[in-house]
Amino acid sequence: MPREFTEEQSELIATSRNSTNASLSYQSNRKLLIAIGLMVNESAGRIIGGMYPVPMDYLARWSLQLYQGQITEGRQAAQAGYESALSLLRGTGDIVGDSNQIMPSYSLYRDEVDTYFKDNSELQANTIKRKMEAINKKVMADATAGGSTETVTLGEYAESFLKESQKFISSYAKLVAVTGMVWASNEGVIKKYKEAGVQRMRWYTVMDERTCIFCMAQHGKVVEIGGVFEKADTTMKVENDKGTISELQMPSWDISHPPLHCHCRCIVLPE
Ligand SMILES: [Zn+2]
Repeated sequence: MPREFTEEQSELIATSRNSTNASLSYQSNRKLLIAIGLMVNESAGRIIGGMYPVPMDYLARWSLQLYQGQITEGRQAAQAGYESALSLLRGTGDIVGDSNQIMPSYSLYRDEVDTYFKDNSELQANTIKRKMEAINKKVMADATAGGSTETVTLGEYAESFLKESQKFISSYAKLVAVTGMVWASNEGVIKKYKEAGVQRMRWYTVMDERTCIFCMAQHGKVVEIGGVFEKADTTMKVENDKGTISELQMPSWDISHPPLHCHCRCIVLPE
């Protein structure tokens, strides 16, 4: 049962879904800012105490904090995606069988969503640890640059460390929040498509001046529901209008729906 959405309709669907994601990202971002801020302070504290780097047992706690910073909104995003897919299918008159109901809560389906956020929080905690180590090195190199014989106190050192880290905290929290909500929302969307017996889905990219060439290349691509748009650990290669090839490394998991990359705003439509 092929569906035809005009470009205008598709854009409207994308805009409304993205605005829901944006408000959930905003809430998640605030929690992540606090969580990452605590981690950075902890690192600075260890530097002052001469106990750097961060030991492994901190990572489990950090990843739990990151998880808690995302999961509530992540579940809401999945539920919102699920409901938006339902209203979309109702609008096209393609609802199949008993799947015409909104499930009372996405919690019935939340295993995949929870697992995703748990696994990702571990990756994020590791990323933050690596970043803190890199900032630590940079601050140390700056302190000893030019063969300065002046002694830098641990307090001054920690202060520089916190200042450098501050730049990283806000951009990283935002990146994690936005990307997580887009993932969860599309997960809910596909759950509803599956339930409704939709066979295939189409990648839809919002085309504006912010759209990257990789998402442009995905635009219009059709796969089976439950299929994969880009395989794990592959490299996507796209030629730009100047004839240069750009490459995007895929993560260690299959891309079965947006996001394709951090800050991706794409959606999937029923085909
Ligand atoms: Zn995208």
